[in-house]
Amino acid sequence: MARETVYIGFGSNVGDRVDFCDRAVTLLSLLPHSAVTGVSLLYETEPVKDKVDPGGQWFINGVVQLETDIAPQSLLDLLREIERALGRDDRSGPRTMDLDILFYGDRVIAEPGLSVPHPRLHQRRFVLMPLSELAPLLVHPTRQRSVNQMLAETSDASEVRLLFPQPSTRYGSRPACSPRLDS
Ligand code: ADP
Ligand code: MG
Repeated sequence: MARETVYIGFGSNVGDRVDFCDRAVTLLSLLPHSAVTGVSLLYETEPVKDKVDPGGQWFINGVVQLETDIAPQSLLDLLREIERALGRDDRSGPRTMDLDILFYGDRVIAEPGLSVPHPRLHQRRFVLMPLSELAPLLVHPTRQRSVNQMLAETSDASEVRLLFPQPSTRYGSRPACSPRLDS
């Protein structure tokens, strides 16, 4: 299988949220047949009630760029494993870790349980902001809008703040190419 560039959104709103994000990025960096080639900065984001009530706690969110040979459905299964490994129990509401496939190359996938590009990414500033660091000009394959255009046009008015200071990784998860405030 040809290597593809995938963007994975991560978010946590329970417990030590920064630590859960650090662990999630590290586990992604350990996936076989894959390499993490970019990690966004971390953002503090207001919970958005677009599907289910996520609870009152703000999220820590970011995006990982992954080069991978793992097929989309297998990758989704592995993301579910990582969510479970990090203690996620409930399928919705407050969560220690949520991992979503945002883009898988320029593929359009509509299968039971897997929609790519992620169907709500254009409605989520907490996804578009970190994604715009890594891939501002990436064009959505069906909307024909770049990440920066979707960010400028989104109706989502929820707050998304850069986390400051940015924590350093405890587990060595960030590749040298990722943008860092303290480097
Ligand atoms: P959300 O991430 O929208 O807050 P969940 O994490 O609870 O909600 O989503 C659950 C379901 O979404 C999963 O069972 C998964 O099969 C499905 N799903 C569909 N497309 C995707 C995708 N691109 N990335 C991650 N999950 C997806
Ligand atoms: Mg999810």
